[in-house]
Amino acid sequence: MGEMRHPGNESLRSGANQRGEQLIKEGRRRFIAEFEKYIRELECLLVKCDLGDDESIVKLRTIAHTMKGSAPVFGLNRIGQIAERLLGLWEEAMPADKIKVRTLLQPSRQLVSELQMEYEIYRKELELESAESRRSMGSLAAQSRLLIIDDDSVLRSYLLRSLQYDGYEVMEASDVETGKRLLREHHFDLIILDLMMYPQSGYELFDFLKEDPTFKWLPLIVLSGRGDLQDKVQCFFLGADDYVTKPFQYEELAARIYSLLQRNKGFEQMAFRDPLTGVFNRRYMDQQLQRELQRIERYPTPITMAFIDIDCFKSINDTYGHTAGDVVLQGLANMLQNRMRVTDLIARFGGEEFVIIMPGTTAEEGERVLGEALQAVRETAVARDEVREYRITFSAGIAQWREGLTAEQWIRLADKAMYNSKSRGRNRITRIHQDENELSMKAEQPKLKKLLVADDDEIIRSFIVNTLNHLPIEIIQAVDGQDALEQLRTQTVNLCILDGMMPHLDGLTLLKKLRQDQSLASHQAKVIMLTSKKKEEAIQQGLMLGAEEYMAKPFSIVELEMRVKRLLDQA
Ligand code: GH3
Ligand code: MG
Ligand code: MG
Repeated sequence: MGEMRHPGNESLRSGANQRGEQLIKEGRRRFIAEFEKYIRELECLLVKCDLGDDESIVKLRTIAHTMKGSAPVFGLNRIGQIAERLLGLWEEAMPADKIKVRTLLQPSRQLVSELQMEYEIYRKELELESAESRRSMGSLAAQSRLLIIDDDSVLRSYLLRSLQYDGYEVMEASDVETGKRLLREHHFDLIILDLMMYPQSGYELFDFLKEDPTFKWLPLIVLSGRGDLQDKVQCFFLGADDYVTKPFQYEELAARIYSLLQRNKGFEQMAFRDPLTGVFNRRYMDQQLQRELQRIERYPTPITMAFIDIDCFKSINDTYGHTAGDVVLQGLANMLQNRMRVTDLIARFGGEEFVIIMPGTTAEEGERVLGEALQAVRETAVARDEVREYRITFSAGIAQWREGLTAEQWIRLADKAMYNSKSRGRNRITRIHQDENELSMKAEQPKLKKLLVADDDEIIRSFIVNTLNHLPIEIIQAVDGQDALEQLRTQTVNLCILDGMMPHLDGLTLLKKLRQDQSLASHQAKVIMLTSKKKEEAIQQGLMLGAEEYMAKPFSIVELEMRVKRLLDQA
Protein backbone atom coordinates (compact mmCIF):
# COMPACT_ATOMS: atom_id res chain seq x y z
CA MET A 1 0.00 0.00 0.00
CA GLY A 2 2.45 2.63 -1.16
CA GLU A 3 0.13 5.46 -2.03
CA MET A 4 -2.36 7.40 -0.01
CA ARG A 5 -5.90 7.39 -1.19
CA HIS A 6 -8.37 10.12 -0.52
CA PRO A 7 -11.67 8.35 -0.40
CA GLY A 8 -13.89 11.28 -1.39
CA ASN A 9 -11.90 12.29 -4.42
CA GLU A 10 -11.33 8.74 -5.50
CA SER A 11 -14.99 7.86 -5.66
CA LEU A 12 -15.88 11.09 -7.40
CA ARG A 13 -13.19 10.63 -9.94
CA SER A 14 -13.79 7.03 -10.73
CA GLY A 15 -17.24 7.86 -12.14
CA ALA A 16 -15.80 10.51 -14.43
CA ASN A 17 -12.95 8.24 -15.46
CA GLN A 18 -15.28 5.43 -16.35
CA ARG A 19 -17.29 7.71 -18.53
CA GLY A 20 -14.12 9.06 -20.11
CA GLU A 21 -12.88 5.57 -20.85
CA GLN A 22 -16.18 4.64 -22.36
CA LEU A 23 -16.09 7.69 -24.62
CA ILE A 24 -12.55 7.00 -25.70
CA LYS A 25 -13.42 3.42 -26.49
CA GLU A 26 -16.37 4.55 -28.52
CA GLY A 27 -14.23 7.13 -30.32
CA ARG A 28 -11.56 4.53 -31.04
CA ARG A 29 -14.14 2.18 -32.48
CA ARG A 30 -15.39 4.88 -34.82
CA PHE A 31 -11.89 5.97 -35.72
CA ILE A 32 -10.90 2.44 -36.67
CA ALA A 33 -14.11 2.07 -38.65
CA GLU A 34 -13.15 5.11 -40.73
CA PHE A 35 -9.47 4.40 -40.84
CA GLU A 36 -9.40 1.99 -43.73
CA LYS A 37 -10.95 4.65 -45.94
CA TYR A 38 -8.08 7.00 -45.10
CA ILE A 39 -5.52 4.34 -45.99
CA ARG A 40 -7.13 3.73 -49.37
CA GLU A 41 -7.16 7.45 -49.99
CA LEU A 42 -3.49 7.76 -49.10
CA GLU A 43 -2.65 5.01 -51.59
CA CYS A 44 -4.54 6.84 -54.32
CA LEU A 45 -2.89 10.12 -53.47
CA LEU A 46 0.58 8.59 -53.68
CA VAL A 47 -0.18 7.44 -57.20
CA LYS A 48 -1.35 10.92 -58.11
CA CYS A 49 1.68 12.54 -56.49
CA ASP A 50 3.79 10.30 -58.68
CA LEU A 51 1.96 11.71 -61.69
CA GLY A 52 2.94 15.21 -60.62
CA ASP A 53 -0.35 16.37 -59.13
CA ASP A 54 0.50 19.14 -56.66
CA GLU A 55 -2.95 19.21 -55.15
CA SER A 56 -2.54 15.59 -54.08
CA ILE A 57 0.54 16.52 -52.09
CA VAL A 58 -1.50 19.04 -50.17
CA LYS A 59 -4.27 16.52 -49.59
CA LEU A 60 -1.81 13.90 -48.48
CA ARG A 61 -0.35 16.31 -45.95
CA THR A 62 -3.79 17.16 -44.67
CA ILE A 63 -4.69 13.52 -44.08
CA ALA A 64 -1.37 12.79 -42.39
CA HIS A 65 -1.87 15.85 -40.26
CA THR A 66 -5.38 14.85 -39.25
CA MET A 67 -4.28 11.33 -38.36
CA LYS A 68 -1.36 12.59 -36.37
CA GLY A 69 -3.63 14.83 -34.36
CA SER A 70 -6.61 12.61 -33.83
CA ALA A 71 -5.24 9.07 -33.44
CA PRO A 72 -3.53 9.79 -30.08
CA VAL A 73 -6.76 11.26 -28.70
CA PHE A 74 -8.13 7.73 -28.82
CA GLY A 75 -4.94 6.17 -27.49
CA LEU A 76 -3.84 4.99 -30.94
CA ASN A 77 -0.34 6.34 -30.46
CA ARG A 78 1.45 4.14 -32.96
CA ILE A 79 -0.82 5.35 -35.75
CA GLY A 80 -0.11 8.90 -34.63
CA GLN A 81 3.63 8.29 -34.82
CA ILE A 82 3.54 6.75 -38.27
CA ALA A 83 1.39 9.63 -39.51
CA GLU A 84 3.90 12.03 -38.04
CA ARG A 85 6.72 10.36 -39.96
CA LEU A 86 4.67 10.53 -43.13
CA LEU A 87 3.98 14.20 -42.54
CA GLY A 88 7.67 14.76 -41.86
CA LEU A 89 8.54 13.26 -45.24
CA TRP A 90 6.20 15.51 -47.16
CA GLU A 91 6.39 18.65 -45.10
CA GLU A 92 9.34 19.96 -47.02
CA ALA A 93 8.47 18.59 -50.46
CA MET A 94 8.42 21.46 -52.88
CA PRO A 95 5.49 20.80 -55.15
CA ALA A 96 7.47 21.52 -58.30
CA ASP A 97 10.39 19.31 -57.38
CA LYS A 98 9.58 16.11 -59.27
CA ILE A 99 12.81 14.36 -58.40
CA LYS A 100 12.38 14.95 -54.71
CA VAL A 101 8.79 13.70 -54.90
CA ARG A 102 9.99 10.51 -56.54
CA THR A 103 12.40 9.77 -53.69
CA LEU A 104 9.57 10.16 -51.20
CA LEU A 105 7.27 7.61 -52.79
CA GLN A 106 9.00 4.45 -51.66
CA PRO A 107 9.33 5.39 -47.97
CA SER A 108 5.76 6.73 -48.06
CA ARG A 109 4.39 3.46 -49.39
CA GLN A 110 6.30 1.71 -46.64
CA LEU A 111 4.64 3.94 -44.04
CA VAL A 112 1.20 3.41 -45.55
CA SER A 113 1.69 -0.32 -45.35
CA GLU A 114 2.70 0.11 -41.71
CA LEU A 115 -0.54 2.01 -41.18
CA GLN A 116 -2.37 -0.88 -42.79
CA MET A 117 -0.75 -3.32 -40.37
CA GLU A 118 -1.61 -1.14 -37.39
CA TYR A 119 -5.14 -0.97 -38.66
CA GLU A 120 -5.40 -4.76 -38.83
CA ILE A 121 -4.00 -5.14 -35.32
CA TYR A 122 -6.26 -2.53 -33.75
CA ARG A 123 -9.26 -3.93 -35.52
CA LYS A 124 -8.53 -7.41 -34.18
CA GLU A 125 -7.99 -5.95 -30.73
CA LEU A 126 -11.35 -4.25 -30.91
CA GLU A 127 -13.05 -7.44 -32.01
CA LEU A 128 -11.46 -9.40 -29.19
CA GLU A 129 -12.24 -6.70 -26.69
CA SER A 130 -15.91 -6.60 -27.49
CA ALA A 131 -16.19 -10.40 -27.51
CA GLU A 132 -14.30 -10.70 -24.25
CA SER A 133 -15.94 -7.89 -22.41
CA ARG A 134 -19.31 -9.43 -23.04
CA ARG A 135 -18.17 -12.45 -21.12
CA SER A 136 -15.92 -11.03 -18.47
CA MET A 137 -16.76 -9.98 -14.97
CA GLY A 138 -15.65 -6.44 -15.71
CA SER A 139 -18.48 -5.96 -18.09
CA LEU A 140 -21.05 -7.39 -15.71
CA ALA A 141 -19.83 -4.94 -13.08
CA ALA A 142 -19.80 -2.07 -15.53
CA GLN A 143 -23.39 -2.78 -16.44
CA SER A 144 -24.61 -3.01 -12.87
CA ARG A 145 -25.67 -0.37 -10.41
CA LEU A 146 -25.78 -1.30 -6.75
CA LEU A 147 -27.46 0.37 -3.80
CA ILE A 148 -25.96 0.11 -0.30
CA ILE A 149 -28.29 0.95 2.56
CA ASP A 150 -26.39 0.97 5.83
CA ASP A 151 -26.20 3.46 8.70
CA ASP A 152 -22.61 2.50 9.54
CA SER A 153 -20.73 5.17 7.61
CA VAL A 154 -17.33 3.52 7.90
CA LEU A 155 -18.51 0.19 6.55
CA ARG A 156 -20.62 1.92 3.91
CA SER A 157 -17.75 3.93 2.56
CA TYR A 158 -15.48 0.89 2.60
CA LEU A 159 -18.00 -1.12 0.61
CA LEU A 160 -18.69 1.75 -1.73
CA ARG A 161 -15.08 2.15 -2.66
CA SER A 162 -14.30 -1.56 -2.88
CA LEU A 163 -17.23 -2.15 -5.19
CA GLN A 164 -16.34 0.86 -7.29
CA TYR A 165 -12.81 -0.44 -7.70
CA ASP A 166 -14.37 -3.65 -8.98
CA GLY A 167 -16.10 -1.58 -11.63
CA TYR A 168 -19.62 -1.33 -10.21
CA GLU A 169 -21.60 1.84 -10.17
CA VAL A 170 -22.64 2.27 -6.56
CA MET A 171 -24.99 4.57 -4.69
CA GLU A 172 -25.35 4.78 -0.94
CA ALA A 173 -28.04 5.58 1.59
CA SER A 174 -27.63 5.92 5.34
CA ASP A 175 -31.26 5.17 6.15
CA VAL A 176 -34.32 3.43 4.72
CA GLU A 177 -36.07 6.64 3.65
CA THR A 178 -33.12 7.76 1.53
CA GLY A 179 -32.91 4.24 0.13
CA LYS A 180 -36.55 4.38 -0.96
CA ARG A 181 -36.04 7.74 -2.61
CA LEU A 182 -33.03 6.50 -4.56
CA LEU A 183 -34.93 3.40 -5.60
CA ARG A 184 -37.69 5.56 -7.01
CA GLU A 185 -35.28 7.80 -8.87
CA HIS A 186 -32.77 5.35 -10.30
CA HIS A 187 -32.59 1.93 -11.74
CA PHE A 188 -30.67 -0.62 -9.64
CA ASP A 189 -29.53 -4.15 -10.26
CA LEU A 190 -29.01 -5.19 -6.65
CA ILE A 191 -29.52 -3.93 -3.10
CA ILE A 192 -27.24 -4.51 -0.12
CA LEU A 193 -29.30 -3.85 2.99
CA ASP A 194 -28.24 -3.57 6.60
CA LEU A 195 -30.85 -5.04 8.89
CA MET A 196 -30.10 -3.16 12.10
CA MET A 197 -30.57 0.53 11.45
CA TYR A 198 -32.01 3.49 13.26
CA PRO A 199 -34.68 4.95 13.20
CA GLN A 200 -36.21 2.47 10.75
CA SER A 201 -34.86 -1.05 10.63
CA GLY A 202 -34.02 -2.70 7.34
CA TYR A 203 -37.23 -4.71 7.64
CA GLU A 204 -39.18 -1.60 6.64
CA LEU A 205 -37.76 -1.80 3.16
CA PHE A 206 -39.25 -5.22 2.46
CA ASP A 207 -42.80 -3.85 2.46
CA PHE A 208 -41.82 -1.06 0.14
CA LEU A 209 -40.22 -3.47 -2.31
CA LYS A 210 -43.23 -5.75 -2.28
CA GLU A 211 -45.64 -2.96 -3.17
CA ASP A 212 -43.99 -2.06 -6.45
CA PRO A 213 -43.94 -4.73 -9.17
CA THR A 214 -40.82 -3.25 -10.78
CA PHE A 215 -38.83 -4.17 -7.67
CA LYS A 216 -40.14 -7.69 -7.52
CA TRP A 217 -37.11 -9.26 -9.13
CA LEU A 218 -34.49 -6.91 -7.75
CA PRO A 219 -31.86 -9.07 -5.96
CA LEU A 220 -31.39 -8.24 -2.28
CA ILE A 221 -28.53 -9.21 0.02
CA VAL A 222 -29.07 -8.66 3.73
CA LEU A 223 -26.14 -7.68 5.93
CA SER A 224 -26.64 -8.31 9.58
CA GLY A 225 -24.71 -8.01 12.78
CA ARG A 226 -26.65 -10.85 14.24
CA GLY A 227 -26.09 -14.46 13.49
CA ASP A 228 -29.57 -15.08 14.75
CA LEU A 229 -31.25 -17.97 12.95
CA GLN A 230 -34.65 -16.37 13.46
CA ASP A 231 -33.63 -13.21 11.60
CA LYS A 232 -32.10 -15.16 8.79
CA VAL A 233 -35.18 -17.28 8.25
CA GLN A 234 -37.47 -14.29 8.41
CA CYS A 235 -35.40 -12.39 5.83
CA PHE A 236 -35.56 -15.23 3.37
CA PHE A 237 -39.31 -15.50 3.85
CA LEU A 238 -39.64 -11.76 3.24
CA GLY A 239 -37.85 -12.03 -0.06
CA ALA A 240 -34.12 -11.66 0.56
CA ASP A 241 -31.93 -13.59 -1.87
CA ASP A 242 -28.91 -13.89 0.34
CA TYR A 243 -27.81 -13.21 3.88
CA VAL A 244 -24.32 -12.27 5.09
CA THR A 245 -23.36 -11.91 8.74
CA LYS A 246 -21.00 -9.14 9.89
CA PRO A 247 -18.06 -9.24 10.18
CA PHE A 248 -17.57 -10.65 6.70
CA GLN A 249 -14.80 -10.88 4.14
CA TYR A 250 -15.25 -8.49 1.24
CA GLU A 251 -14.29 -11.23 -1.22
CA GLU A 252 -17.17 -13.38 -0.06
CA LEU A 253 -19.69 -10.59 -0.36
CA ALA A 254 -18.31 -9.67 -3.79
CA ALA A 255 -18.63 -13.28 -4.96
CA ARG A 256 -22.23 -13.45 -3.75
CA ILE A 257 -23.07 -10.18 -5.47
CA TYR A 258 -21.52 -11.43 -8.68
CA SER A 259 -23.33 -14.71 -8.63
CA LEU A 260 -26.71 -13.10 -7.96
CA LEU A 261 -26.23 -10.55 -10.70
CA GLN A 262 -25.18 -13.15 -13.17
CA ARG A 263 -28.12 -15.37 -12.41
CA ASN A 264 -30.46 -12.46 -12.72
CA LYS A 265 -28.93 -11.34 -15.98
CA GLY A 266 -29.57 -14.83 -17.27
CA PHE A 267 -33.24 -14.61 -16.33
CA GLU A 268 -33.38 -11.14 -17.74
CA GLN A 269 -31.99 -12.41 -21.02
CA MET A 270 -34.77 -14.94 -21.21
CA ALA A 271 -37.59 -12.69 -20.10
CA PHE A 272 -36.58 -9.38 -21.62
CA ARG A 273 -34.66 -10.22 -24.75
CA ASP A 274 -35.86 -11.04 -28.20
CA PRO A 275 -34.45 -14.51 -28.86
CA LEU A 276 -33.78 -13.95 -32.58
CA THR A 277 -31.90 -10.65 -32.45
CA GLY A 278 -30.74 -10.42 -28.83
CA VAL A 279 -32.05 -6.86 -28.42
CA PHE A 280 -34.69 -6.11 -25.80
CA ASN A 281 -38.26 -7.17 -26.39
CA ARG A 282 -41.29 -5.00 -26.34
CA ARG A 283 -42.31 -5.96 -22.85
CA TYR A 284 -39.02 -4.75 -21.45
CA MET A 285 -39.19 -1.61 -23.53
CA ASP A 286 -42.64 -0.76 -22.19
CA GLN A 287 -41.40 -1.19 -18.67
CA GLN A 288 -38.29 0.92 -19.25
CA LEU A 289 -40.34 3.63 -20.94
CA GLN A 290 -42.39 4.05 -17.78
CA ARG A 291 -39.22 4.27 -15.75
CA GLU A 292 -37.66 6.83 -18.03
CA LEU A 293 -40.77 8.98 -17.97
CA GLN A 294 -40.82 8.91 -14.17
CA ARG A 295 -37.19 9.91 -14.11
CA ILE A 296 -37.72 12.80 -16.51
CA GLU A 297 -40.48 14.15 -14.34
CA ARG A 298 -37.89 14.70 -11.64
CA TYR A 299 -34.89 15.56 -13.77
CA PRO A 300 -36.04 17.10 -17.03
CA THR A 301 -33.62 16.22 -19.83
CA PRO A 302 -34.36 15.65 -23.51
CA ILE A 303 -35.14 12.10 -24.56
CA THR A 304 -35.81 10.94 -28.07
CA MET A 305 -37.32 7.86 -29.69
CA ALA A 306 -36.60 6.42 -33.09
CA PHE A 307 -39.01 4.04 -34.80
CA ILE A 308 -37.37 1.97 -37.51
CA ASP A 309 -38.97 -0.23 -40.14
CA ILE A 310 -36.98 -2.15 -42.74
CA ASP A 311 -37.92 -1.26 -46.32
CA CYS A 312 -39.48 -3.94 -48.50
CA PHE A 313 -38.47 -6.63 -46.08
CA LYS A 314 -41.10 -8.97 -47.35
CA SER A 315 -39.28 -9.19 -50.67
CA ILE A 316 -36.16 -10.55 -48.92
CA ASN A 317 -38.26 -13.32 -47.40
CA ASP A 318 -39.98 -13.93 -50.70
CA THR A 319 -36.82 -13.95 -52.78
CA TYR A 320 -34.26 -15.64 -50.53
CA GLY A 321 -36.34 -17.41 -47.95
CA HIS A 322 -37.31 -16.85 -44.36
CA THR A 323 -33.91 -17.83 -43.00
CA ALA A 324 -32.25 -15.09 -45.01
CA GLY A 325 -34.82 -12.68 -43.57
CA ASP A 326 -33.86 -13.80 -40.06
CA VAL A 327 -30.18 -13.21 -40.76
CA VAL A 328 -30.95 -9.71 -41.98
CA LEU A 329 -32.92 -8.94 -38.82
CA GLN A 330 -29.98 -10.12 -36.72
CA GLY A 331 -27.56 -8.13 -38.82
CA LEU A 332 -29.48 -4.90 -38.48
CA ALA A 333 -29.99 -5.39 -34.73
CA ASN A 334 -26.29 -6.03 -34.33
CA MET A 335 -25.32 -3.01 -36.32
CA LEU A 336 -27.67 -0.75 -34.38
CA GLN A 337 -26.39 -2.12 -31.09
CA ASN A 338 -22.82 -1.38 -32.12
CA ARG A 339 -23.56 2.15 -33.17
CA MET A 340 -25.70 3.34 -30.29
CA ARG A 341 -24.53 4.54 -26.93
CA VAL A 342 -24.59 2.20 -23.93
CA THR A 343 -27.36 4.26 -22.41
CA ASP A 344 -29.56 3.89 -25.50
CA LEU A 345 -32.14 1.14 -25.39
CA ILE A 346 -32.83 -0.88 -28.51
CA ALA A 347 -35.89 -3.09 -28.70
CA ARG A 348 -37.54 -5.18 -31.36
CA PHE A 349 -41.01 -3.76 -31.53
CA GLY A 350 -42.51 -6.21 -33.98
CA GLY A 351 -41.55 -8.26 -37.05
CA GLU A 352 -39.09 -5.97 -38.82
CA GLU A 353 -39.60 -2.94 -36.61
CA PHE A 354 -37.17 -1.66 -34.03
CA VAL A 355 -37.47 1.12 -31.48
CA ILE A 356 -34.53 3.00 -29.98
CA ILE A 357 -34.88 5.14 -26.86
CA MET A 358 -32.11 7.71 -26.55
CA PRO A 359 -31.92 9.41 -23.15
CA GLY A 360 -30.16 12.77 -23.04
CA THR A 361 -30.68 13.21 -26.78
CA THR A 362 -32.65 15.84 -28.67
CA ALA A 363 -34.64 15.11 -31.82
CA GLU A 364 -31.98 16.84 -33.91
CA GLU A 365 -29.20 14.69 -32.46
CA GLY A 366 -31.35 11.59 -32.78
CA GLU A 367 -31.99 12.40 -36.41
CA ARG A 368 -28.28 12.75 -37.01
CA VAL A 369 -27.41 9.46 -35.28
CA LEU A 370 -30.07 7.60 -37.24
CA GLY A 371 -28.95 9.33 -40.41
CA GLU A 372 -25.49 7.92 -39.87
CA ALA A 373 -26.92 4.45 -39.27
CA LEU A 374 -28.96 4.69 -42.45
CA GLN A 375 -25.90 5.78 -44.38
CA ALA A 376 -24.02 2.80 -42.95
CA VAL A 377 -26.61 0.24 -44.09
CA ARG A 378 -26.70 1.84 -47.51
CA GLU A 379 -22.96 1.40 -47.82
CA THR A 380 -22.34 -1.88 -46.06
CA ALA A 381 -24.28 -5.13 -46.18
CA VAL A 382 -25.96 -5.85 -42.83
CA ALA A 383 -25.62 -9.59 -43.28
CA ARG A 384 -24.07 -12.20 -45.50
CA ASP A 385 -24.18 -15.94 -45.93
CA GLU A 386 -22.21 -18.34 -48.15
CA VAL A 387 -24.11 -17.21 -51.22
CA ARG A 388 -24.56 -13.47 -51.00
CA GLU A 389 -24.54 -10.22 -49.15
CA TYR A 390 -27.80 -8.65 -47.99
CA ARG A 391 -28.24 -4.96 -48.39
CA ILE A 392 -31.22 -3.12 -47.00
CA THR A 393 -32.46 0.35 -46.25
CA PHE A 394 -34.91 1.42 -43.60
CA SER A 395 -37.42 4.15 -42.95
CA ALA A 396 -37.38 5.85 -39.57
CA GLY A 397 -39.38 8.31 -37.52
CA ILE A 398 -37.92 10.46 -34.77
CA ALA A 399 -39.92 11.96 -31.93
CA GLN A 400 -38.61 13.76 -28.92
CA TRP A 401 -40.68 13.36 -25.77
CA ARG A 402 -42.52 16.44 -24.64
CA GLU A 403 -44.43 17.19 -21.53
CA GLY A 404 -47.79 15.52 -21.26
CA LEU A 405 -47.10 12.65 -23.68
CA THR A 406 -47.86 9.17 -22.43
CA ALA A 407 -45.58 6.35 -23.55
CA GLU A 408 -48.23 5.12 -25.99
CA GLN A 409 -48.76 8.55 -27.52
CA TRP A 410 -45.04 8.98 -27.84
CA ILE A 411 -44.64 5.67 -29.69
CA ARG A 412 -47.56 6.58 -31.92
CA LEU A 413 -45.88 9.86 -32.85
CA ALA A 414 -42.61 8.16 -33.77
CA ASP A 415 -44.54 5.52 -35.73
CA LYS A 416 -46.44 8.25 -37.56
CA ALA A 417 -43.19 9.93 -38.52
CA MET A 418 -41.88 6.57 -39.76
CA TYR A 419 -44.96 6.18 -41.97
CA ASN A 420 -44.30 9.62 -43.32
CA SER A 421 -40.85 8.38 -44.37
CA LYS A 422 -42.45 5.39 -46.09
CA SER A 423 -44.94 7.49 -47.96
CA ARG A 424 -42.26 9.87 -49.16
CA GLY A 425 -40.46 6.99 -50.86
CA ARG A 426 -38.77 5.03 -48.00
CA ASN A 427 -35.02 4.99 -47.23
CA ARG A 428 -35.22 8.19 -45.17
CA ILE A 429 -35.81 9.69 -41.78
CA THR A 430 -38.59 11.98 -40.64
CA ARG A 431 -38.47 14.03 -37.50
CA ILE A 432 -41.67 15.19 -35.84
CA HIS A 433 -41.47 18.93 -35.68
CA GLN A 434 -42.01 20.82 -32.49
CA ASP A 435 -45.61 21.82 -32.25
CA GLU A 436 -46.82 25.10 -30.83
CA ASN A 437 -47.38 23.52 -27.50
CA GLU A 438 -43.74 22.68 -27.22
CA LEU A 439 -42.56 25.97 -28.59
CA SER A 440 -44.38 27.80 -25.84
CA MET A 441 -42.85 25.40 -23.35
CA LYS A 442 -39.42 26.14 -24.76
CA ALA A 443 -39.95 29.85 -24.42
CA GLU A 444 -40.47 29.54 -20.70
CA GLN A 445 -37.23 27.70 -20.21
CA PRO A 446 -34.04 29.68 -19.70
CA LYS A 447 -32.09 29.94 -22.92
CA LEU A 448 -29.30 27.40 -23.20
CA LYS A 449 -25.80 28.57 -23.94
CA LYS A 450 -24.61 27.61 -27.38
CA LEU A 451 -21.36 25.89 -28.27
CA LEU A 452 -20.05 25.52 -31.82
CA VAL A 453 -17.65 22.69 -32.58
CA ALA A 454 -15.79 23.26 -35.84
CA ASP A 455 -13.51 20.49 -37.02
CA ASP A 456 -13.29 18.88 -40.43
CA ASP A 457 -12.45 15.56 -38.81
CA GLU A 458 -15.87 14.05 -38.32
CA ILE A 459 -14.71 11.56 -35.72
CA ILE A 460 -13.03 14.11 -33.52
CA ARG A 461 -16.04 16.34 -33.88
CA SER A 462 -18.55 13.77 -32.76
CA PHE A 463 -16.16 12.64 -30.04
CA ILE A 464 -16.12 16.16 -28.63
CA VAL A 465 -19.88 16.44 -28.96
CA ASN A 466 -20.39 13.14 -27.16
CA THR A 467 -18.02 14.21 -24.43
CA LEU A 468 -19.88 17.45 -23.79
CA ASN A 469 -23.33 16.18 -24.53
CA HIS A 470 -24.35 15.81 -20.92
CA LEU A 471 -23.79 19.50 -20.17
CA PRO A 472 -26.91 21.67 -20.17
CA ILE A 473 -25.91 23.45 -23.38
CA GLU A 474 -26.86 23.46 -27.03
CA ILE A 475 -24.14 22.12 -29.29
CA ILE A 476 -23.96 22.87 -32.99
CA GLN A 477 -21.35 21.61 -35.44
CA ALA A 478 -19.49 22.91 -38.44
CA VAL A 479 -17.72 20.70 -40.97
CA ASP A 480 -15.14 23.30 -42.00
CA GLY A 481 -14.11 26.91 -41.50
CA GLN A 482 -16.50 28.28 -44.10
CA ASP A 483 -19.43 26.44 -42.59
CA ALA A 484 -18.41 27.71 -39.14
CA LEU A 485 -18.24 31.31 -40.35
CA GLU A 486 -21.73 31.06 -41.87
CA GLN A 487 -23.15 29.81 -38.60
CA LEU A 488 -21.29 32.40 -36.53
CA ARG A 489 -22.63 35.10 -38.81
CA THR A 490 -26.25 34.23 -38.25
CA GLN A 491 -26.54 32.90 -34.70
CA THR A 492 -25.27 33.92 -31.31
CA VAL A 493 -22.79 31.35 -30.14
CA ASN A 494 -21.25 31.67 -26.67
CA LEU A 495 -18.22 29.50 -27.20
CA CYS A 496 -16.51 27.89 -30.18
CA ILE A 497 -14.00 25.12 -30.33
CA LEU A 498 -12.07 25.71 -33.53
CA ASP A 499 -9.75 23.29 -35.22
CA GLY A 500 -6.63 25.12 -36.36
CA MET A 501 -6.37 23.32 -39.69
CA MET A 502 -9.51 23.15 -41.75
CA PRO A 503 -10.13 23.23 -45.47
CA HIS A 504 -11.52 26.40 -47.09
CA LEU A 505 -10.89 28.59 -44.06
CA ASP A 506 -8.42 27.69 -41.34
CA GLY A 507 -9.03 28.30 -37.65
CA LEU A 508 -6.70 31.27 -37.26
CA THR A 509 -8.16 33.15 -40.21
CA LEU A 510 -11.62 32.38 -38.95
CA LEU A 511 -10.67 33.71 -35.53
CA LYS A 512 -9.34 36.90 -37.09
CA LYS A 513 -12.59 37.42 -39.00
CA LEU A 514 -14.60 36.73 -35.89
CA ARG A 515 -12.75 39.35 -33.88
CA GLN A 516 -12.68 41.98 -36.62
CA ASP A 517 -16.16 41.78 -38.05
CA GLN A 518 -18.56 43.27 -35.53
CA SER A 519 -21.55 42.51 -37.69
CA LEU A 520 -21.23 38.79 -36.93
CA ALA A 521 -23.88 37.64 -34.49
CA SER A 522 -21.23 35.71 -32.58
CA HIS A 523 -18.62 38.46 -32.58
CA GLN A 524 -18.29 38.12 -28.79
CA ALA A 525 -17.97 34.33 -28.71
CA LYS A 526 -15.19 32.87 -26.62
CA VAL A 527 -12.78 30.63 -28.48
CA ILE A 528 -10.80 27.51 -27.74
CA MET A 529 -8.30 26.79 -30.51
CA LEU A 530 -7.65 23.15 -31.02
CA THR A 531 -4.77 22.05 -33.13
CA SER A 532 -1.97 19.63 -33.46
CA LYS A 533 0.42 22.46 -34.26
CA LYS A 534 2.47 22.75 -31.14
CA LYS A 535 4.49 25.56 -32.60
CA GLU A 536 5.03 28.52 -30.30
CA GLU A 537 4.25 31.16 -32.89
CA ALA A 538 0.92 29.61 -33.82
CA ILE A 539 -0.09 29.56 -30.18
CA GLN A 540 0.95 33.15 -29.72
CA GLN A 541 -0.77 34.22 -32.87
CA GLY A 542 -3.97 32.55 -31.71
CA LEU A 543 -3.82 34.16 -28.31
CA MET A 544 -3.00 37.53 -29.81
CA LEU A 545 -6.00 37.25 -32.09
CA GLY A 546 -8.10 36.80 -28.99
CA ALA A 547 -8.50 33.08 -28.40
CA GLU A 548 -9.23 32.43 -24.74
CA GLU A 549 -7.62 29.01 -24.69
CA TYR A 550 -5.28 26.95 -26.76
CA MET A 551 -5.25 23.17 -26.68
CA ALA A 552 -2.87 20.92 -28.57
CA LYS A 553 -4.01 17.61 -30.02
CA PRO A 554 -3.91 15.06 -28.59
CA PHE A 555 -5.91 16.73 -25.87
CA SER A 556 -7.34 15.29 -22.68
CA ILE A 557 -11.12 15.16 -22.63
CA VAL A 558 -11.22 15.86 -18.91
CA GLU A 559 -9.28 19.03 -19.46
CA LEU A 560 -11.36 20.04 -22.45
CA GLU A 561 -14.56 19.57 -20.47
CA MET A 562 -13.15 21.64 -17.60
CA ARG A 563 -12.19 24.50 -19.87
CA VAL A 564 -15.49 24.47 -21.70
CA LYS A 565 -17.36 24.64 -18.41
CA ARG A 566 -15.22 27.49 -17.16
CA LEU A 567 -15.48 29.56 -20.32
CA LEU A 568 -19.22 29.01 -20.59
CA ASP A 569 -19.65 30.19 -17.02
CA GLN A 570 -17.92 33.40 -18.00
CA ALA A 571 -19.74 33.76 -21.30
P1 GH3 B 1 -42.41 -1.67 -46.22
O1 GH3 B 1 -41.23 -1.11 -46.96
O2 GH3 B 1 -43.66 -0.97 -46.55
O3 GH3 B 1 -42.16 -1.71 -44.76
O4 GH3 B 1 -42.58 -3.13 -46.75
P2 GH3 B 1 -42.24 -4.47 -45.98
O5 GH3 B 1 -42.22 -5.58 -46.96
O6 GH3 B 1 -41.00 -4.27 -45.20
O7 GH3 B 1 -43.41 -4.57 -44.93
P3 GH3 B 1 -44.53 -5.65 -44.67
O8 GH3 B 1 -45.15 -5.22 -43.38
O9 GH3 B 1 -45.39 -5.81 -45.86
O10 GH3 B 1 -43.78 -7.02 -44.46
C1 GH3 B 1 -43.10 -7.34 -43.30
C2 GH3 B 1 -42.68 -8.76 -43.42
O11 GH3 B 1 -41.82 -9.13 -42.33
C3 GH3 B 1 -43.82 -9.73 -43.35
C4 GH3 B 1 -43.38 -10.82 -42.40
O12 GH3 B 1 -43.52 -12.08 -42.99
C5 GH3 B 1 -41.92 -10.54 -42.19
N1 GH3 B 1 -41.46 -10.94 -40.87
C6 GH3 B 1 -41.94 -10.58 -39.66
N2 GH3 B 1 -41.24 -11.15 -38.67
C7 GH3 B 1 -40.26 -11.90 -39.24
C8 GH3 B 1 -39.21 -12.74 -38.74
O13 GH3 B 1 -39.01 -12.91 -37.53
N3 GH3 B 1 -38.39 -13.34 -39.65
C9 GH3 B 1 -38.57 -13.16 -40.99
N4 GH3 B 1 -37.73 -13.79 -41.81
N5 GH3 B 1 -39.56 -12.41 -41.49
C10 GH3 B 1 -40.40 -11.76 -40.64
MG1 MG C 1 -43.51 -3.23 -40.81
MG1 MG D 1 -41.03 -2.91 -43.57
